[in-house]
Amino acid sequence: MYTAEFNYHKAASVLEALALLEKHPEAKLLAGGHSLIPAMKLRLAQPSALIDVSKIAGLSGIRLQGDTIVIGAMTTHREIEHSSLLKEKCSILPEQATLIGDPMVRNKGTIGGALAHADPAADYPASMLALGASMKIENSSGSRVVSADDFFQGMFQTAVGAGEMLTEIHIPANTKGAYEKFAHPASRYAIVGVAVVKHSDGSTRAAVTGAGASAMRLAKLEGGATSGLVDAADLLSDHFASAEYRAHLVDVMAQKALARV
Ligand SMILES: Cc1cc2nc3c(=O)[nH]c(=O)nc-3n(C[C@H](O)[C@H](O)[C@H](O)COP(=O)(O)OP(=O)(O)OC[C@H]3O[C@@H](n4cnc5c(N)ncnc54)[C@H](O)[C@@H]3O)c2cc1C
Repeated sequence: MYTAEFNYHKAASVLEALALLEKHPEAKLLAGGHSLIPAMKLRLAQPSALIDVSKIAGLSGIRLQGDTIVIGAMTTHREIEHSSLLKEKCSILPEQATLIGDPMVRNKGTIGGALAHADPAADYPASMLALGASMKIENSSGSRVVSADDFFQGMFQTAVGAGEMLTEIHIPANTKGAYEKFAHPASRYAIVGVAVVKHSDGSTRAAVTGAGASAMRLAKLEGGATSGLVDAADLLSDHFASAEYRAHLVDVMAQKALARV
């Protein structure tokens, strides 16, 4: 299967990428291409142009800034999987990265691409909500930082607007977390994935991905409950799993994650 024809632009900086986006409003940003290219091959997406942002210097890497871990949007799943800084200060992310797809997907796919794509079955959205992360979004007139709670707005929908780009992910350091996923046997995407994170102030945050139209906080677990965490009426139902089965899996995955935390 081949994509429709498109023009290719390679951006050397965020400023250049934003200028290209302004000049070509129908264009799509290209990060690792592991969600966008399959969609283009299936003709679900037919952008007239791609703006390759995957090699912008300074957009990948993981660093500690005070009590915050800053992850560049073009950091690959593989870099997250092997980061010693994350293993020490935010181990849920390397743990989660090892569960994404296969080595090829992890070598090319990026955290920024995954978050901007907001696939309802993607792994990171659950940990972003449980970690209380925030996302830096840039456009030609400046930047803003949006909390994960406000970032995910629905199926494949985020706070990143037209002409904008996700550039950084900000995560509080020194958390203890666990992620439990009931994976689709072929793609490894989450049918249900639950992230539970204990924060340094003693609070616990939890979230689920795969179960609904987009990742969501598990308020009942945060309040101390360990079963009946979600209402099946709010969940997806498809030929992989009914809404009732997904609701059951949420409880089971949550109990497993909680026990490990
Ligand atoms: C076989 C297979 C198995 C997979 N399994 C899993 C899995 O188990 N779990 C999981 O979570 N994911 C899985 N994925 C998805 C994978 O993680 C992708 O890498 C990810 O969803 C998209 O990241 P990317 O860097 O490849 O983005 P791309 O495909 O390049 O882009 C995705 C979308 O985000 C936009 N975009 C990219 N970067 C930015 C940015 N900085 N700012 C704004 N918009 C941007 C693009 O324009 C595009 O619309 C799988 C993919 C494949 C092909």
